[in-house]
Amino acid sequence: MEWPASFYALKRGEGCEMCRQGRPDETRWGVRFFAGRVSDAYLQRANIQRGYTVVVWRGRHVAEPTELSTTDASAYWLEVLRVAQALETQLKPVKMNYNVLGNSLPHLHAHIIPRYADDPRPGWPFPFPEHDPPPIDDHVLHEDVEALRRLLA
Ligand SMILES: [Zn+2]
Repeated sequence: MEWPASFYALKRGEGCEMCRQGRPDETRWGVRFFAGRVSDAYLQRANIQRGYTVVVWRGRHVAEPTELSTTDASAYWLEVLRVAQALETQLKPVKMNYNVLGNSLPHLHAHIIPRYADDPRPGWPFPFPEHDPPPIDDHVLHEDVEALRRLLA
């Protein structure tokens, strides 16, 4: 197995969807509830785990957090933590997980996954499904978005 040639192009930022999209209120994956100085946080629509959030770096294209200056890295991670604190307050998880992967879309973003008492795999990394399940109930999604926006206002 090898990484496809297209991955190297994407890693350099060629055709990067997260660069191209600007800073929209909604993406095809989620609804924004936090617009920081250097990042946007999106509550994910797919019914994978309640509160599952992706925090997208909104500066120039970078694939790795190590490509950021100390100032930019500090700003980014502090915004990630601010978002995580709101998720903790709102949803009362047992544990919070932070995944920085970018193996399919190599533009810096962090997955924040709250883990609850009833969890698909306690003690282990969250078992993401290979394909996204149907969306979470729209009413639940928008209630969570509104509550998180209020906490971060
Ligand atoms: Zn990018």
